[in-house]
Amino acid sequence: MTWRLTPPLLLLATLAAASPAWAEDRKPNIVVIVADDRGYADLGVHGCRDIPTPNIDALAHAGIRCSSGYVTGPVCSPTRAALMAGRYQQRFGHEFNPRYPKRLREGYGLALTETTIAQRLRDAGYATGMVGKWHLGFQKKFNPVHRGFDEFYGFLGGSHSYLPGTNQGQEAEDPRFGIFRGTRPADMTEYSTDAFAREAVSFIGRHKAEPFFLYLPFNAVHTPLQAPPDYGRRFRRIKDPKRRTYAGMVAAMDDAVGAVMEKLRKEGLDDQTLVFFLSDNGGTTANASDNRPLRGHKATTWEGGIRVPFFVRWTNHLPAEKVYDRPVAQIDILTTALAAAGVAADPEWKLDGVNLLPLLRGEKAGDPHEALYWRFGNQSAIRMGDWKLVRGRVGRAAKGPGMRVSEPQLYNLAADLSERNDLASEHPEKVEQLQAAWEKWNAELAPPAWRGPDPPQVP
Ligand code: CA
Repeated sequence: MTWRLTPPLLLLATLAAASPAWAEDRKPNIVVIVADDRGYADLGVHGCRDIPTPNIDALAHAGIRCSSGYVTGPVCSPTRAALMAGRYQQRFGHEFNPRYPKRLREGYGLALTETTIAQRLRDAGYATGMVGKWHLGFQKKFNPVHRGFDEFYGFLGGSHSYLPGTNQGQEAEDPRFGIFRGTRPADMTEYSTDAFAREAVSFIGRHKAEPFFLYLPFNAVHTPLQAPPDYGRRFRRIKDPKRRTYAGMVAAMDDAVGAVMEKLRKEGLDDQTLVFFLSDNGGTTANASDNRPLRGHKATTWEGGIRVPFFVRWTNHLPAEKVYDRPVAQIDILTTALAAAGVAADPEWKLDGVNLLPLLRGEKAGDPHEALYWRFGNQSAIRMGDWKLVRGRVGRAAKGPGMRVSEPQLYNLAADLSERNDLASEHPEKVEQLQAAWEKWNAELAPPAWRGPDPPQVP
């Protein structure tokens, strides 16, 4: 007899072809893309008009835009430390950026007591790779390849030239400068954003047959202000030369993100890949970024320092075209990635992050965190529900005796995103409640392992 597929069998056959059993069993890939010092407003989906960002906008639209996405540090290294550890960075002394060259010494790096997201995913069977800016220690023991990453291409400090042929040569022997592959000096023959995109695409291509974790922290759009020449020409109509160069850097990064997302699509990995996109802190006056409508900027605990673009995409596993407005933070990425990988987090790990998947899917209501907390020297903040109590930097001095911090101010962010209308005197009971919660958290923290505060940009 001839086999003929009856309608139910035909349906089963079609379903099997569309989603083979192994695809469901396979752990999803995890991709974390980080921008550096990006202005909150400098994205099409956040209302940017002078710099098109079609690729990052597409990523946001294909997933969930977390409109109250935060980072737990207002500068680069602390934010990245907490992302790696899934814990508040102040718990292990990483409150400030590590100090720079002359005082290079033991201890300026991500504490070796911390287990990184890369180590945890590698333990779960993942291939792990990092491309871009590390900023979590210069010595070999702090190198990404000793912190859970199978592969590393990028640089170790907080900023780097974008141009080929710079910060290399003899300087490459110095661990503070230069591009590295693993622990060895490497060449960079392209504009660095392009080089990082090429390396990321290569990593995906080489590991597409196994679950992989790709951590892709760009230095774009941190200073120095250096755009590829053709991108500069693209923005001739922008009059401010600083903003014009910045626009070129933003556009180059958007193209780089586009290349990575296109690679995932071409390899058929979209619905097997959980993608996060965020910035490590708010924009800074140093790079002509735009934080509107937020108050403040990098290195402050006003919203402009800590609220960032934050998108999560996992095709066919998370909703698309959705805005999620409850507060989430970069410390949630590790816990969420582990949950997606089917790894149960051990309470002994003392993670501060929350598994966001059921919240983003709408299966669970309420805020992910009872509160989110900040401490950055004598600046501080707590967000509980829609309320925020903040002591933020005021005046021009970024550090030293001239630096001033406000009295505690209370804002309802649902009504006052720009932190203009201080409600502290109207709601003393709320001030007291938030202050008490912050004090309780603060009592659990370690003293800073090195001192700050940082200037708004380094070095
Ligand atoms: Ca940064």
